[in-house]
Amino acid sequence: MTDMAGSLALPREMRHFIEGREVESADGRRGELLSPVDEAVFATYAFGGEEDVDKAVSSARAQFDHGEWSRLSGYDRGLLLNKLADLIERDADLIAEMDAACIGRPAMEPRILDLPNAIQTIRTSAGWADKLEGRTIPTPGYLGRPTISYTVHEAVGVVAAITPWNTPFMITCWKVGPLLAAGCTVVIKPSEETPMSALHLARLVKEAGFPDGVVNVVTGSGSVIGNALVRNPGVDKVTFTGSPGVGKHIQQEAAEDFKRVSLELGGKSPQIVYADADLAEAVAGCAMGIFFNQGQICAAGSRILVHEDIAEIFAQQFAAVAESIVVGDPAQEGVQMGPVAKKAQFDRVNDYIRKGIDAGATLMAGGVSEYTQGWFVKPTVFANANNDMVIAQEEIFGPVATIIPFKDEDEAIQIANGTVYGLGATVWTSDVKRAHRLAKRVKAGAVGVNCWAPIDARLPWGGVKQSGIGRECGLAGVMAYTEEKVITVVTD
Ligand code: NAD
Repeated sequence: MTDMAGSLALPREMRHFIEGREVESADGRRGELLSPVDEAVFATYAFGGEEDVDKAVSSARAQFDHGEWSRLSGYDRGLLLNKLADLIERDADLIAEMDAACIGRPAMEPRILDLPNAIQTIRTSAGWADKLEGRTIPTPGYLGRPTISYTVHEAVGVVAAITPWNTPFMITCWKVGPLLAAGCTVVIKPSEETPMSALHLARLVKEAGFPDGVVNVVTGSGSVIGNALVRNPGVDKVTFTGSPGVGKHIQQEAAEDFKRVSLELGGKSPQIVYADADLAEAVAGCAMGIFFNQGQICAAGSRILVHEDIAEIFAQQFAAVAESIVVGDPAQEGVQMGPVAKKAQFDRVNDYIRKGIDAGATLMAGGVSEYTQGWFVKPTVFANANNDMVIAQEEIFGPVATIIPFKDEDEAIQIANGTVYGLGATVWTSDVKRAHRLAKRVKAGAVGVNCWAPIDARLPWGGVKQSGIGRECGLAGVMAYTEEKVITVVTD
């Protein structure tokens, strides 16, 4: 497979990765990967069942409970993680092409954003591996005898990591780096659309010298193997990134035996633009916030709240940016935006565009895209919208911006916080006091002031309200894979 994604050879046939080996599904079933550009099958992969999940969990369980991995020090885990980061760096071009081919994205994007971030995450995790220190707590004693209490952070155990298709390798590393640093083992269940880079990661894990069974990958459908993983009694924690509907289902299933759960879910992130903002900077930043990766970003700034004094000029300039984006086959020179990742996504985005038109929002750019071949959607801008419209409330996960005017700060905050979500937000203003005020009042996990909410291995990432539970990355991301145990000792 060289023509579609460029010069690097992508695998055409893939299998699960269990206990350090590539294995076919127990029932031999296979799934197909379709190119979002021309809908041709470009690779096949093992489409697993419950038996495959059981094998993968047993392999992770054995390593965690009594394998070589369970005896490694944090320092040694860090050494292995650093080797893994070097190998990812070596293969960065290939991995970027894998993700790009699966979701129809220009490979340059994951190459300059996802891969550097993923490598940084693995290296930062390596640094944490031998620094998971506990606390010493003064205690009043036991029956008159002196005591000392201290805490240790122990690995949670076997983790099921269930990931989405939009930035697959990077999100997989957000989970795998921290959980390995903590000493856990893992079974990764990548999305049906993007199994390729997770399987490559597993191969690199083996090459780096991790014991077999520490990292396993099973591929196939969410409803069968995703579900089987969440229910498997050998799994201690589920870390999930994906849609709120599936997240809710996972939380309910995991409650059965009180598995630990981290959820990174959807968003409807507001970008608040004040009249005193640098207009050109705000237009460009907000455009990146919603059009990057075809709008298929959890923190996409899909609601743009603009002060009424500049709402019209902002909408005109923003629509001009949308119209100027070159949409097409990402392999072609000059193309800036590829298709959306799957046909269901194409239908979903167009459906929302119809709803925006029906609700009476002003269509400034784009509109409903006709289906021919490939899942290309025009960057679309609605202006004069209000926050009650469906396009302002529901996650579209496509290149559709909804511009909503506001009068003052109170109204801006009321609109910004007026959805069930709370993932990212941006504030565009030159007034430093206003910037801090708005950043404090907006309910979100991450706020960018005069920038799009940055992602970085050192910064915690996650949402409030229905955008999720828990944090990935940063120290919090590593601690999420530990349990704090307290030990009290009578000292005399
Ligand atoms: P999705 O929920 O459809 O699928 C995510 C994963 O869950 C896939 O691997 C899928 O196979 C699996 N799955 C599906 N049904 C399952 C079930 N019943 N049990 C267990 N697993 C199951 O989401 P998607 O379409 O792949 O991704 C898009 C969504 O992900 C959007 O809502 C987006 O906002 C969200 N997302 C969030 C973040 C974040 O950091 N908060 C990052 C990226 C994407």
